[in-house]
Amino acid sequence: MGAYKKLKDFVGEENYYDDEAHLQAYCYDATRERYIPDCVIFPKNEDEICKILKYCNENRIAIIPRGAGSGFTGGALPSNGGVILAMERYFNNILEIDKKNMIVRVQPGVVNKHLQDAVEKEGLFYPPDPASQEYSTIGGNVSENAGGMRAAKYGITKDYVMAIRAVLPNGEIIRAGKKTIKDVAGYNIAGILIASEGTLAVITEITLKLIAKPKLKKSAMGIFATIEDAMNAVYKTMASGVTPVAMEFLDNLSIRAVESKFNKGLPINAGAILITEVDGNLNEEIMYQLDQIEQKFKENGCIEFHIAKDDKEAEDIWFARRNASQSINIYGKKKLNEDITVPRSKLPELLKKIDEIGKKYGFKIPCFGHTGDGNVHTNVMVEDLKDIDKGYEAIEEIFKIAVALEGTLSGEHGIGLSKAPFMHLAFTQAEMELFRSLKKAFDPNNILNPGKMGL
Ligand SMILES: Cc1cc2nc3c(=O)[nH]c(=O)nc-3n(C[C@H](O)[C@H](O)[C@H](O)COP(=O)(O)OP(=O)(O)OC[C@H]3O[C@@H](n4cnc5c(N)ncnc54)[C@H](O)[C@@H]3O)c2cc1C
Repeated sequence: MGAYKKLKDFVGEENYYDDEAHLQAYCYDATRERYIPDCVIFPKNEDEICKILKYCNENRIAIIPRGAGSGFTGGALPSNGGVILAMERYFNNILEIDKKNMIVRVQPGVVNKHLQDAVEKEGLFYPPDPASQEYSTIGGNVSENAGGMRAAKYGITKDYVMAIRAVLPNGEIIRAGKKTIKDVAGYNIAGILIASEGTLAVITEITLKLIAKPKLKKSAMGIFATIEDAMNAVYKTMASGVTPVAMEFLDNLSIRAVESKFNKGLPINAGAILITEVDGNLNEEIMYQLDQIEQKFKENGCIEFHIAKDDKEAEDIWFARRNASQSINIYGKKKLNEDITVPRSKLPELLKKIDEIGKKYGFKIPCFGHTGDGNVHTNVMVEDLKDIDKGYEAIEEIFKIAVALEGTLSGEHGIGLSKAPFMHLAFTQAEMELFRSLKKAFDPNNILNPGKMGL
């Protein structure tokens, strides 16, 4: 198609692809849904992006920014065809580590782990650590507001974004935010771009806050007879003033799944396990925190509390959590995986209701995740694909419960395509109209990532 081939003028022949192999390689993400794009391009610099967007805007061509394509909700999928704007080839540089101000400036295609390693060499620390950190990009992390294991203490991506440079669909460059800690001049446009899933502007540069890296850390595991005890322990421990880095959980189904796959001696009769980590600079500080956690856990039905003696034992403790997601596949051919989030005190009720939904629909729903921030990965496991619609009915009920408990549809994976049909459960018509007006202000011709977020 001539309109697409014109893009070669901007990126060069060597950065434009419309052959079958590339179209197939860029047609899916971690949802495993497939939508074939019309072409894939690799822009070399911001100036090219300005020209590309201006051209696509004038010609009403859909354009989809893409990082590593590890998204769980289809954010980087060309659901209406169009151009994949792949940032990974050239936009992968760390531009500046400003040690004096504890700030790093990066291009969006930098892989999360590469950034973490680079700043840690300088004694600094970038805490957001999605489980996809080995491949997901900072641009994708900002666009989905990614979280990770350390969020209980250190927060999520949005807590580190200081400034964003981006290109609007009309080709103009905007700078949102500053290198300063305080900035109350004008609307918080950087805040609006965070979690905007590539629907408003193409991010070309990100300035992130760094902190000092704590010297010590220790992990521990608590075993609970019931999931209710474990969930009570989570919010009561956190409310008592201890701030663990992580407070993760596995329910009984998840424990059994990991054990059946890896034979690690996990407590298969436990209702749940909680896995926690604390950090600090003094051993006394670490031991004090662990002591407090053990006390709170035991007050809430913990039957065994085990502190890792060394790195090897810590690794063993974390093994179950790291392998939960792949292990639960034993329960069904199709995993309907959601990441609802509720205020922590509502976790006991949430888990009880999910159990009831599992029984009502006849699905196993293993749950695990980031209880320290109220974020539960619920996995409706569908064994027979003819039951898939019933699976989505169960998901809809789970979403309704999360919203009724003052929670949200997504704590970290975003809306994309997968959760778009459920937006009405969480937002009023007036709120959706406001989202649409915002989208229109940035992208009046709806060329940037159209069809996402239910807009
Ligand atoms: C095994 C696995 C584990 C995961 N664990 C976690 C986890 O612990 N926490 C978590 O939060 N997520 C997790 N994820 C989900 C996913 O990795 C994150 O959403 C991540 O932030 C996506 O980054 P990406 O580079 O792959 O982005 P992509 O999937 O390529 O894109 C995601 C969105 O960002 C937009 N985008 C990308 N770059 C730009 C840009 N430069 N400008 C504008 N928009 C852009 C895209 O259009 C799309 O809407 C996991 C995924 C997998 C497969």
